[in-house]
Amino acid sequence: MIIQKQKDLETIKKSLGEFNKVFIVGCADCATACKTGGEEELAAMKTALEAAGKTVTGTSVFDTACLLGEVRKKIAENQAAIDAADAVLIMACGSGVQAVGDYLENKPVIPGVDALFIGEVLRAGKYEEKCQACGECILDLTDGICPLTRCAKGLLNGPCGGYKNGKCEIDPDKDCAWVLIYKRLKERGHIDKMRQIMAAKDNSKVHRPRRLVWERPQKVGEKK
Ligand code: SF4
Ligand code: SF4
Repeated sequence: MIIQKQKDLETIKKSLGEFNKVFIVGCADCATACKTGGEEELAAMKTALEAAGKTVTGTSVFDTACLLGEVRKKIAENQAAIDAADAVLIMACGSGVQAVGDYLENKPVIPGVDALFIGEVLRAGKYEEKCQACGECILDLTDGICPLTRCAKGLLNGPCGGYKNGKCEIDPDKDCAWVLIYKRLKERGHIDKMRQIMAAKDNSKVHRPRRLVWERPQKVGEKK
């Protein structure tokens, strides 16, 4: 899940500037789960923008705002209302903003949301970063706890000397990721994994922008 937060209204109004007629897009996936761009949030944004003197020509929650087939379909369904707008406000992550922007000719797209990280939804309003999409997952070696993301220093071989009572020296409110890894490996009888030295990450795997192209669906066990 792409964890995100809504920009504050003043920032959105500033980004809209002289664009007085606005179409608002949301997303039924991450943006709805994070309460940044579902039906409820779009209705609230419409009310707020109208109170600020804007005209909202329409709203639509796309099933998945970064899925190009869905974007094309929803834009076609809402074409008249989008044509009537000066700009389109996207209440979804930056991938959604760019997907919609790629399909709209001569129509500015305005982000209404800040994408923050890939994480878990603990409950509505409580989210935790769990993965940096490093391109080379090593969770098998740590029994499912990512040191790259959950250790404040991103140590692949830990812990450092700073943890105290199981907490991180950088932020004592947070558990030391390597203490968690140690406990889990021990409980599950895999403590031998802790003795292995992990090799440095191959940073060539994160050259941006990253792309993945399949000529055909991937088969189980196939090398990429
Ligand atoms: S090692 Fe961590 S950052 Fe890399 S893919 Fe796995 S969970 Fe994500
Ligand atoms: S105390 Fe633990 S989580 Fe914090 S930086 Fe050191 S190894 Fe990482």
